[in-house]
Amino acid sequence: MTPGRMVGTMLVVAPPYDGLTRPEEVDAMSESRDDLGMRGRPARPSAGVGPASFHVLAKPAGAICNLDCEYCFFLSKEELYPGSSFRMSDELLGEYVRQLLDSHRTREVTVAWQGGEPTLMGLDFFRRAMDLVEQYRRPGQTVEHTVQTNGTLIDDEWASFLAEHDFLVGVSIDGPRQLHDAYRVDKGGKPTFDRVLRGLDRLKVHGVRWNVLTTVHRANEDHPLEVYRFLRDELGAEYIQFIPIVERPTEHGVPVGTTATDRSVSPAGYGRFLVDVFEEWARHDVGQVFVQMFDSTLASFLDVPGSLCVHSETCGTALALEHNGDLYSCDHFVEPEHLLGNIGSRHMLELVASPQQRAFGDAKRESLPAYCRSCDVRFACHGGCPKDRFTTTPDGEPGLHYLCASYQLFFRHVDEPLRVMTAAVRSGGYADEVMDWYRLRERERG
Ligand code: SF4
Ligand code: SF4
Repeated sequence: MTPGRMVGTMLVVAPPYDGLTRPEEVDAMSESRDDLGMRGRPARPSAGVGPASFHVLAKPAGAICNLDCEYCFFLSKEELYPGSSFRMSDELLGEYVRQLLDSHRTREVTVAWQGGEPTLMGLDFFRRAMDLVEQYRRPGQTVEHTVQTNGTLIDDEWASFLAEHDFLVGVSIDGPRQLHDAYRVDKGGKPTFDRVLRGLDRLKVHGVRWNVLTTVHRANEDHPLEVYRFLRDELGAEYIQFIPIVERPTEHGVPVGTTATDRSVSPAGYGRFLVDVFEEWARHDVGQVFVQMFDSTLASFLDVPGSLCVHSETCGTALALEHNGDLYSCDHFVEPEHLLGNIGSRHMLELVASPQQRAFGDAKRESLPAYCRSCDVRFACHGGCPKDRFTTTPDGEPGLHYLCASYQLFFRHVDEPLRVMTAAVRSGGYADEVMDWYRLRERERG
């Protein structure tokens, strides 16, 4: 067995409890809080309210970024906070960390930073965050630190800090130079490829854990193998996320209309991209390279929760915190209608457990058009993210996902090899046995 060989591939699952924490420990952790009801601070709801764990993407600099990637939907979110400084205050930072750690009844808590570009806050902000985590971490709690960055500001000092605190760093790279620079430009319209690679190089030198987030859009959708082989062979990426760009015009920061921009991936282009990458990965790289979409799909075949909210039946446990403490239902719905409240006046667990948030998560399933309800790949697709359900079904019902053609293409294409992987795992074997299956099949076909 190679060191990277695993039962599934990376199979990130989200059980209600972490499987390590016994119920009595959970209770003890809940009771050990000494600040319940502290004057001036929102108190946590009583024990048992809300999910045991949830995920918050905190945006300490709001939507502010040093780059100007043409397809970025976050940039339009600046319009929601006119005149704002877009900087999370120290007071709010403390309150956020306190409430996040206080809310979890699992042993492990993830503290995740995103933007905009979170490194614009400067290292001192993150040093304070580390001190606060130590201050509020309950006995037995472990904290996973993550940050998503464009990588351009990462120097030795940053990389050394990220290594010291064992951050998992997501770096946005869209492929080799000409594909990356198609849309990922700075405020002056200049390419960013070299700066990103310099930042990534610093991470590698300092031994920081990193993964790649690659968006799929009109400029790179026809180059799947070029992109994948670049990430795998040139960068040495072992963990890869592919995120489709589906962009619509916005009014006051809210997407409108039923037409995607020309930069968006085409309705079937994302599926074609994934199929080609899958064919390469499933023949050569299973157990060595981890592609989140493939892992999540295997999880669906194994009937366990996957790591992609967009392909889960319901959602609602991945929220977004703005720089001023406003908590939104999701990072894809940072808009007035989906504002749950502000953690300065209401505890985040109360907001996470609110009927509004539960309805938001359930609506993903309840709003599916009949076409999806009877779809043969619904078990793996679940209709995609509600943000992008702005097209109509063949019989004219609204609410179909813009990428339906891609999803049908991909999920049907991978059905046979994923059944091979599923059977291998269920019989106590390994998912990478699919590579033998491919070899055998190709020999038989001559
Ligand atoms: S709204 Fe979309 S991105 Fe947000 S949690 Fe639901 S599926 Fe995920
Ligand atoms: S593939 Fe299309 S029809 Fe099927 S569940 Fe997904 S979005 Fe709906």
